[in-house]
Amino acid sequence: MALLPRAGGARLAGSCVGAGIAGLACAVTLERLGIDTVVYEQGDKPGQAFAHVGVIMPVIQRPVIDVVRELRHKYGIDLRPLTQVRRIRMHGSTVERDITGADLGFTFEVSREARSVTGQLAGMYHGPVLFNTRADYFALRDAFDYVVVAGGNPEISGMLGVWQDWLRTWAVGAQVLGEFDQACIEIWFDRRFARNGYAYMVPFNDKMASLSLIVPGVRRAAAIAHWQDFLRARHMSWEVVSYWDVEHVTGYVHPYQLGNTLFVGHSGGFMDPLLGFSIFSSLVSGVLAGRAIAGGKLYAQAVESLRRSMLDICRYAAFSTGWRTTTRTAWSRSWDCPALGGPTPKARGLRSSDGATAWHLWARHLLAFSRTA
Ligand SMILES: Cc1cc2nc3c(=O)[nH]c(=O)nc-3n(C[C@H](O)[C@H](O)[C@H](O)COP(=O)(O)OP(=O)(O)OC[C@H]3O[C@@H](n4cnc5c(N)ncnc54)[C@H](O)[C@@H]3O)c2cc1C
Repeated sequence: MALLPRAGGARLAGSCVGAGIAGLACAVTLERLGIDTVVYEQGDKPGQAFAHVGVIMPVIQRPVIDVVRELRHKYGIDLRPLTQVRRIRMHGSTVERDITGADLGFTFEVSREARSVTGQLAGMYHGPVLFNTRADYFALRDAFDYVVVAGGNPEISGMLGVWQDWLRTWAVGAQVLGEFDQACIEIWFDRRFARNGYAYMVPFNDKMASLSLIVPGVRRAAAIAHWQDFLRARHMSWEVVSYWDVEHVTGYVHPYQLGNTLFVGHSGGFMDPLLGFSIFSSLVSGVLAGRAIAGGKLYAQAVESLRRSMLDICRYAAFSTGWRTTTRTAWSRSWDCPALGGPTPKARGLRSSDGATAWHLWARHLLAFSRTA
């Protein structure tokens, strides 16, 4: 593994483990702030190996509504989404409801293409990326002033004892061909095939979409069987191509910094425990790590609001578990309840005392069900 500057040189030198979303967001920020940086990437290109489409939804990112604008103005990351979501079709086991509106979120390609999130970030970073190079954390820790752990998994944070699992799921998915409205995504909450997880479809364009099923608490073989059940139960007419499956773990990290090592993105526990989404928080934690390093500031303080937002969702889960036990609602029906009654246009306008809309509370409510498998 090639190593660049020695720690303690005249200029600060940083290294990032992983040329993914968080690692590149951090590298772009460090470079702009004048810190020499080297990125180590085990793959031959930046980004996740299997192509899919990710969504950033304000319901998760509240109080941020326009995430694209927020990223551009507050974090200096100017990204082009695939499109803006204008319709979410929610499927329960017996009910179906469309949510329409202008502020439902944005879709982004997650792949190794130039138009993907990592492709766009790679275009903003001009420093060295060592591809096909698996980072040796301990070597980097000794050679650089800072190491930013952005491997997109709990490997290094787990080894260093700062990671704690929250939820283990298996994600199964594919690219599907058919006719799609690019501004419409579909979500299924149905215990028959998703247990307490969910499935969702997000279009790449009007001819191709990414279809994913997230099943908590199962091994690979069972997840694949659930995927078959999903396709059968929904009578999918789409042609399935480019199948993939991957284990997906969410967790907490504490502390966020150990000496000269900062944890960002998924490796830093910045993944919402409701849907397992983390594009936005990976970008933000990467930028904040870069700013903390360059400004000699405390990283933990910089990410405090991200940490609070994760804890907020976890606390709601605990409350709602109690509620479920009290009402003894049957599982499938309890999924239908929020699908039917939660996100109506009228309810979306209501606000609770902490500023969350009813739509946001509904999303938290879903978490409770997904946590109590
Ligand atoms: C199926 C699926 C669907 C998802 N859908 C959404 C969604 O709709 N919305 C959303 O917000 N989020 C979604 N997510 C989550 C989100 O895509 C990822 O969690 C996010 O990409 C994490 O970013 P990251 O920078 O932490 O890691 P990644 O983007 O995964 O990047 C990590 C990089 O580090 C490299 N690496 C790892 N270890 C090493 C090492 N030792 N040395 C060198 N390189 C290394 C990897 O090769 C990789 O390139 C989804 C995730 C999955 C799996």
